[in-house]
Amino acid sequence: MTTIETIVDLQHAYTELGAAEELLQGIPDWMQELHEEYGARRTEIEAIAAAIELAAAERRGAEAGVADTQERLKHYQEQIGQVRNQREYSALLQEIDLVKQQILGFEEQALQALEQQETEQARLDEERQAFAELESRYQQELEKWEAQKPEVAAGAEKLRGRIEVLEGRLPPPILHQFRLIRERFDGVALAEVRELQRVGKGRQMWHCSGCNYRVLPQSLVEIRNNGSVVLCDSCKRILYYVEDAG
Ligand SMILES: [Zn+2]
Repeated sequence: MTTIETIVDLQHAYTELGAAEELLQGIPDWMQELHEEYGARRTEIEAIAAAIELAAAERRGAEAGVADTQERLKHYQEQIGQVRNQREYSALLQEIDLVKQQILGFEEQALQALEQQETEQARLDEERQAFAELESRYQQELEKWEAQKPEVAAGAEKLRGRIEVLEGRLPPPILHQFRLIRERFDGVALAEVRELQRVGKGRQMWHCSGCNYRVLPQSLVEIRNNGSVVLCDSCKRILYYVEDAG
């Protein structure tokens, strides 16, 4: 195996390992749709529950308002016997009127909050019933995925072993270079050399698929014949070439 072949294999193993690790931390494709539906319904249920809480708090606030204003009303009514003149009397009556209005307002608020609470509660019961079916389906798929996980984890472990072997075959400076380039390009250190589409018959021309910069024929010869590590002159990715199957 040439150096560049080893690097191509190594890159491949890293990419596969990345995919396996991502999968292990997330949800497989076949579960994605149900996972999203499950999440959306759960969010909806949480929102309704929050609305119920809010209505309940509003109701408690309004009821406390009723109690407070009733206290004030009682206080004013007790003062009636102590007024000394008509002016004080009518002022007191005005206050009493105002407080009675306030009580009515709070009572109306409490009633509305109660109705809101009941409406939302009915909606919540309905949603929860529908959710129960979804949840059991979700749990089933989750169990199925949990059962598959060890296989994916074992595959990842195998890839780690393969990476270690492949890395051991590379001269340290080249491995170091590979790692640096891989880091710079978000995990993918390689770029394929491709033939440029030519119009008519001309000289064969090559370019880097990573950045489209030209690749000189002698670089391609180095890669194909000697398996050397050649960097793209422009983007500095490691170039590789896939021989035509045909
Ligand atoms: Zn390039």
